[in-house]
Amino acid sequence: MTKSEELFERAQELMPGGVNSPVRAFKSVGRNPFFVDSAKGAYIYDVDGNKYIDYVCSWGPGILGHAHPKVIETVKKVCEKGLTFGAPTEKEVVLAELIKKCVPSMEMMRLVSSGTEAVMSAVRVARGFTGRDKIIKFVGCYHGHSDGLLMKAGSGLLTGSIPNSAGVPKDYAKYTLLAEYNNEESVKQLMEQYGEDVACIVIEPVAANMGVVLPKKGFLEFLRDITTKYGALLIFDEVITGFRLSLGGAQEYYGIKPDLSTFGKIVGGGMPLAVYGGRKDIMSCVAPVGSVYQAGTLSGNPVAVSAGIETLKILMENKQIYSEIDKQTAKIENAYNSIGLQTQRVGSLMSVFFTDTKISNYNDVMTCDTTKFADYFNYMLKNGIYVAPSQFESMFVSMAHTDDIIDKTVDVIKRYKNN
Ligand SMILES: *Cc1c(COP(=O)(O)O)cnc(C)c1O
Repeated sequence: MTKSEELFERAQELMPGGVNSPVRAFKSVGRNPFFVDSAKGAYIYDVDGNKYIDYVCSWGPGILGHAHPKVIETVKKVCEKGLTFGAPTEKEVVLAELIKKCVPSMEMMRLVSSGTEAVMSAVRVARGFTGRDKIIKFVGCYHGHSDGLLMKAGSGLLTGSIPNSAGVPKDYAKYTLLAEYNNEESVKQLMEQYGEDVACIVIEPVAANMGVVLPKKGFLEFLRDITTKYGALLIFDEVITGFRLSLGGAQEYYGIKPDLSTFGKIVGGGMPLAVYGGRKDIMSCVAPVGSVYQAGTLSGNPVAVSAGIETLKILMENKQIYSEIDKQTAKIENAYNSIGLQTQRVGSLMSVFFTDTKISNYNDVMTCDTTKFADYFNYMLKNGIYVAPSQFESMFVSMAHTDDIIDKTVDVIKRYKNN
């Protein structure tokens, strides 16, 4: 029995499925997970001494690669001064200033501890500001696991075939209207019927939790226009795309200014940190200035904030990172295409889809052959490459994925017998 197997047995007694987040269990790829000992750069090491090239990168945060020396050094230093105070620090101001500099629409913001919290809070603010109850979300988009956002959500719910989570009161469905990604007509119809009651449209500007699905040309502009027309707010959930597609996120990449945005993953540099914010008049609704309540004991935690600051600084000082990782990811994309596999990619966000149907929304994604995906996943792992253990997730490429590493990956992909 390997150490991972032994740990997994113990873990299953104590935690549902032996894990603290469902997709980590590897269930959909028909094997047990490995337990991680450490990670450095583009590599992740398990407790049995196996080494993998990592294209999961903690599901998005790791744009610099694992354990970047500067980030680690900063965090160590900050720890010496105390782990949490429950009182404001200079670092929070510095991080907020950096975020605003990168993403000008973030005029005012709040730091929280997870993407789930960020989107949940942004939606509450939208409701408080507009005085309306309904929201529109897109089938296959994932916005964390708060009650109102779990309907037909992506990520682990797709992987686990859970269209709607148990434990969410049925009445919530009344407030969450579902539209189809890339389908303007589906949004128009909902707005015509409920427009005056819609507080916000919340969307992943690039859907990355049903596999990567790119917005069709004009789709985000359309959402900007129709929300403005009906007095609803547009929320970009940039928890994945933020600081990933560009320093200014998807909103800079596509040139659309949302009213509110959420960030997570990269912004915390590997620590539990996320952000929501946007227009100052809207954010002024939040307590103690306004009457929308949101709080957090560990919000703006100094250690997490310093990891975020260091990460953003490195990205700001090395803007070429974005064109570099774009180029590296394109090489991998070409390898997939050369063996007849379909991909969707923007920058360093990419998915390979095991279907012949052209991908543009959830229904298309559902035509994927997940058995074939599982075979491919296990082939990659056997060859020392760790990709997300689900058809419905993105591949993440980091600054630490050097030419050698990319070449090796391309070679392994090209030897895959896709039939
Ligand atoms: C990961 C993710 C979330 C949730 O963030 P957590 O930190 O896991 O709670 C929300 N929205 C999107 C788009 C995400 O990818």
